[in-house]
Amino acid sequence: MSKRDYYEVLGVGRNATEEEIKKAYRKLSKKYHPDLNPGDKSAEEKFKEINEAYEVLSDPQKRAAYDQFGHAGAQGFGGQGGFGDFQGGFGGFGAEEIFGDIFDMFFGGGSRKRQGPQRGSDLSAEIELTFEEAAFGTTKTIEIPRTETCEICHGTGAKPGTGQRTCPTCNGTGQQQIVQNTPFGRFIQSRPCQTCAGQGKIIEQPCQHCHGKGRVRKLRKITVNIPAGVDSGTRVRKAGEGEAGLRGGPPGDLYLIVRVKPHKIFRREHNDVVMKLNISFPQAALGDEVEVPTLEGKEKIKISPGTQNGTVIRLRGKGIVDVHGRGRGDQRIEIQVEVPTKLTERQKQLLEELAETMGQKPAGVHQEKSFFDKVKDAFMG
Ligand SMILES: [Zn+2]
Ligand SMILES: [Zn+2]
Repeated sequence: MSKRDYYEVLGVGRNATEEEIKKAYRKLSKKYHPDLNPGDKSAEEKFKEINEAYEVLSDPQKRAAYDQFGHAGAQGFGGQGGFGDFQGGFGGFGAEEIFGDIFDMFFGGGSRKRQGPQRGSDLSAEIELTFEEAAFGTTKTIEIPRTETCEICHGTGAKPGTGQRTCPTCNGTGQQQIVQNTPFGRFIQSRPCQTCAGQGKIIEQPCQHCHGKGRVRKLRKITVNIPAGVDSGTRVRKAGEGEAGLRGGPPGDLYLIVRVKPHKIFRREHNDVVMKLNISFPQAALGDEVEVPTLEGKEKIKISPGTQNGTVIRLRGKGIVDVHGRGRGDQRIEIQVEVPTKLTERQKQLLEELAETMGQKPAGVHQEKSFFDKVKDAFMG
């Protein structure tokens, strides 16, 4: 996987000042923010890339490491990546990890700290709403599979009543020393102890409920309030309802991504509700009063005499409540004047008379017979 140059990502020169980097980041992160580009995968990717670049270039030490060693330097530095979590293995000394330790030495990081609490991952699920539910808001209960803190051992992973003892491999330091030959010379590395995963302690007897993991998978029912005015692509956040944290860390958040089912009559344009209304030529010419559906039941509207095809009648404030509380949209009724396709003899006669009063005399055209009609005629005689 090749990564783009961080300077290129932010569109700044290699000698850019901190201020210039900050400015470039603000501009780009605003442009590609997921809230402003709902459902746009490429914007989301860009947003991630921008954040990653900024995280490195805004930190003088990380930036120096990146300038010298490229992406491997920037990632290894700081010790966030590479070592996995409690369940993760520690096998394989990848280039990144070696660099990570070298940078620790360069910058006086010394030995690594014991792994601390880690926040749980965020979860996301799709939620389907009717047009009306999206317009007025609703309460929904959904079921999601997620990881929760084991309620038997409360996340310690130890069987209740049993304790933890000092790890014999590292004598409780959580660190192991490994001699590593690298292109930069010989280094003595400190890395998390493999026996205790850097904890310094091991469990005497694992909890049987979670097999010592401290977390279990559960299918959980969650009730969520959906605010009025959401639309397809809106993300509704439910704080603390994501995956359980590790080692006492807080849980992640749950994001519900809204999908609105199409409506039979209405469609949505921003906060406006739009519908088409067919009226007849006499109604358009003479005017009328007709009933139309709205989000809140039927309403009578006036068709003015002489209404043209394509006229839009606006019902102010009958649209959708803005999700950020900025007022309410309108209902727009787009008028379509229908031309009759089948006329009785009497209707034809009346129309001809009408035309005559307008000084016109439409010749009328005989309907061309279709292929099937011709075949039928041939058989029926
Ligand atoms: Zn347990
Ligand atoms: Zn150990």
